[in-house]
Amino acid sequence: MSKMKLGLLFPPEHTEEPIITKLVKQGLSLNILKASISQGNKGKMILEVTGTDDDIAKGIDYLEGQDISIKVYTNSVIRYEEKCMHCGACTAVCPSGALVMNTGSWELEFDMDKCVLCGHCISACPARAIKNFEEVLR
Ligand code: SF4
Ligand code: SF4
Repeated sequence: MSKMKLGLLFPPEHTEEPIITKLVKQGLSLNILKASISQGNKGKMILEVTGTDDDIAKGIDYLEGQDISIKVYTNSVIRYEEKCMHCGACTAVCPSGALVMNTGSWELEFDMDKCVLCGHCISACPARAIKNFEEVLR
């Protein structure tokens, strides 16, 4: 089984499509981390998707067939390591333990699997080392 975080941007004409139901029928387990959808406007959603690589690939194909823009969130999307000063400010606001200080090296460690994309770390970081991942969805 694989797990992946996907950002979806819906065109206005697709905000009423039952895409979640269809993805579940394709064998995927879904966890909606964020959603902002209103009828007749663009919709945004961040999903954590779990399934076989094959089922995830089919799900992404289905979404792209609906004219939905997809962003796959990875470590490199969320954090600019070269800007990080390892001050630890972000670890204090991270609710999931995705950001922790390594007590041996005193360097920041990030675990994308634990991240729930809440965004608290973005405003907490004085170095602007964490990208606003919602901006990716345009
Ligand atoms: S987005 Fe939220 S869960 Fe993810 S690293 Fe930042 S504070 Fe932690
Ligand atoms: S708050 Fe910013 S600079 Fe400080 S450890 Fe976190 S990512 Fe690095």
